[in-house]
Amino acid sequence: MQRIGPIIVVEGPNNSKVPFSRSLYIDCSEKVLIDTGADPQALLQIDQEYGIELIINTHYHPDHTCHNHLFPNATKWINSIEFQTSRTIDGIARGNGIFQEWGSHGVNLWRKSVPQEWLNSLDGISDTYEYDVDYSFGDVRTVFLHTPGHTSGFSCPYFPDLGVVYVGDYDMTSFGPWYNGADGSIDDFIKSGKRLLNIDADTFITGHQKGIFTKAEFHVAMEKFLSFIDKRDHLIDDYVQKGFSFEELTNIGIFYPKKSLTEPIFKTWERSGIRKHLQRLGYVVPETNNELISTK
Ligand SMILES: [Zn+2]
Repeated sequence: MQRIGPIIVVEGPNNSKVPFSRSLYIDCSEKVLIDTGADPQALLQIDQEYGIELIINTHYHPDHTCHNHLFPNATKWINSIEFQTSRTIDGIARGNGIFQEWGSHGVNLWRKSVPQEWLNSLDGISDTYEYDVDYSFGDVRTVFLHTPGHTSGFSCPYFPDLGVVYVGDYDMTSFGPWYNGADGSIDDFIKSGKRLLNIDADTFITGHQKGIFTKAEFHVAMEKFLSFIDKRDHLIDDYVQKGFSFEELTNIGIFYPKKSLTEPIFKTWERSGIRKHLQRLGYVVPETNNELISTK
């Protein structure tokens, strides 16, 4: 565990790789934990040593909320946009693009695969926080920057007096940007990424793998990270020019390795992601999967 002033960075298993993430503990009178995707043993140890009274989730995804349920007595907040989404299976299924890609039949199938513990984790969330206003936890000033794109409600906790930001899923990994849910947006992802570059901070803590960047390192990494989007645009456009149908495009492995596309949730996000790029490129995305893609 690394400490930056009052902030303790708690690692997740396997270098915080998905399905886990880093959590931040704010060592202050309010005993605040941000996200619960870290190693459950480490989180329980923090609870024993310091106490956890308030859990704040950056967004509803399981890799950031999965261990909320370990702390039944803590108060739990999520961003105001995703509070309703996180209340019901139907809301989560819609947010993830499951309804969009497969309709209610797909939602019913997916429902059976959702771990009860995660639902309990979301179920414990009772309140919301507002974006872009000052909160004080003890004397630690905290602002939840609204940085939509990864999801519509995604926030980056920023500690202006410490010059620290938790950039979560701006993780700079070799997978590239993830905006593949129905509630994700490529344009917003780029806009929010640029916003983060203008934040007055010198410590950028990512949610997965890579770790902590200085401002200079973060700038370089962001440019490379956002450049995935253009590469995906070009790749998809080339396939469309060659006459690939939507269904054919979704079997190539643009986002996920081809072999993992047998997994329904990856296939869902592959489809939803390709759909977003086609729309961005100005193509009309057909409702029926095997139709050819046409220009507007
Ligand atoms: Zn996420």
